[in-house]
Amino acid sequence: MFGIYIHIPFCRTACHYCDFHFSTNTQTMEAMEAALVKELELRTAEEKPDLRQLQSIYFGGGTPSLFHLSGLEALLTRMLPHAPHCTEITLEANPEDVTSERLEAWLKMGINRLSIGLQSFDQHQLDWMSRQHSAEDAAAAVHLAAEAGFTHISADLIYGLPNRTQSFEDELEQFVALPVDHLSAYILTVEDRTVLGRRVERGAQNVPDDEAVEAEFQQLCRAMTDAGFEHYEVSNWAKPGGHAVHNQHYWSGLPYWGIGPGAHGFDGTRRYANVANNPKYIRALDGASSAADLPCEGEALTPTDRYNESLMTGLRTARGIDLTNLDNRFGLRPDVAEPEAWKQFLDRGILKEIGGDVYRIAESHWVMTDAIAAELFVA
Ligand code: SF4
Repeated sequence: MFGIYIHIPFCRTACHYCDFHFSTNTQTMEAMEAALVKELELRTAEEKPDLRQLQSIYFGGGTPSLFHLSGLEALLTRMLPHAPHCTEITLEANPEDVTSERLEAWLKMGINRLSIGLQSFDQHQLDWMSRQHSAEDAAAAVHLAAEAGFTHISADLIYGLPNRTQSFEDELEQFVALPVDHLSAYILTVEDRTVLGRRVERGAQNVPDDEAVEAEFQQLCRAMTDAGFEHYEVSNWAKPGGHAVHNQHYWSGLPYWGIGPGAHGFDGTRRYANVANNPKYIRALDGASSAADLPCEGEALTPTDRYNESLMTGLRTARGIDLTNLDNRFGLRPDVAEPEAWKQFLDRGILKEIGGDVYRIAESHWVMTDAIAAELFVA
């Protein structure tokens, strides 16, 4: 089974912390539509697996909710008739784009899951992030989507933000009252090449310290558990039946295609990244006659890369890592490859056995997962 990620690289305005690939020049939207369709057709014709094994489609961005309905439909009609096992079609939407007309059209073309970028319920923080919606718009968008018939609605929140004027507890109370069955919550990351990164570097902007961020993470974990959500991955929570199908491809090492400028894909052994430039992507697709002409660069992952990646993605999930399985696949297991670090994590209660040879990181330490996994990597 596999998934397809389609990157829609347009946004109305630039959020100053954002490091994703996007452009605010929407004049190339039609040309982009043709280019995305062509990349999809070339991959479908020449690459494996075929669409009969397609399980999920994810429109991410950028701002997919800004994309012409005709563009979304053109892409979906080339996949869905050939993909009988595709059960999840997600579209990322910004609250300001969620209207009754669009909701109806998205449902009609087969989209059955919305991921709505709420980000915060604190108006000062939304203004600070240059978001186009208000706190009221965010809640209204979720209710409108539920009333229109979306039964799977995920929300995105960002925590560890500066400029808080209401308690995080109040924000979480507002969030859990919404008709959502999934939450993705991310720590604000300060990327060097963003406006925020430059402000922080020259001392013009403070961001919360690690202790404050960790305190918010612990609050988040408690509030979501109390509200009946399962914390199934470091940044993701779901109610029963609300677990994201698409993300499992990333976390389980399964293949996925990346379509669109800046999109990444993985075929099981090789990873690729498409050029992250809209005009270059459109020009390259215009002249492409086979998958070999696609504007992407790839690298084959070594068994060591794949072992390290399996450790990282496994330790980010509640499922954890199965040491016997790692040993069978790679001839490596962390308790043997890095015995001192492994023992230290066990002694400190950071790692715990959850049955057989399967271990996970205790939820209270999940906020440190990337650093913990890195200690267990092999060179
Ligand atoms: S809407 Fe999303 S993708 Fe676009 S600039 Fe803001 S954070 Fe980045």
